[in-house]
Amino acid sequence: MDKLSVRDDLHRMREELRRRLGAIDADLGVALEKDSEERAIQVENDEVLREMQTEGINQIAAIDAALERLERGTYGQCVKCKAAIGRHRLAAVPYTPFCIECAKSLD
Ligand SMILES: [Zn+2]
Repeated sequence: MDKLSVRDDLHRMREELRRRLGAIDADLGVALEKDSEERAIQVENDEVLREMQTEGINQIAAIDAALERLERGTYGQCVKCKAAIGRHRLAAVPYTPFCIECAKSLD
């Protein structure tokens, strides 16, 4: 595993998420429409945006934690059972703290 390229990937993902969160913030900052029908749609959209916001914030926290593990030399190791996380799983979700087995048992 190439530690530097993993770090680059994680940084890139975090930047992209921050950019997206910034856009969400801007959208949420728009004043509510006067027309009640349009306002209802807007409120609904805002709810979706807030969900995306929460998801993005959680993802950034997971990326930060992964970067920390990278520094400590425990990256790629499941935080729960200490087993090595599969290559394909790490390639798909580079910031995952769990091996596939532990991730399944959490669902
Ligand atoms: Zn595990």
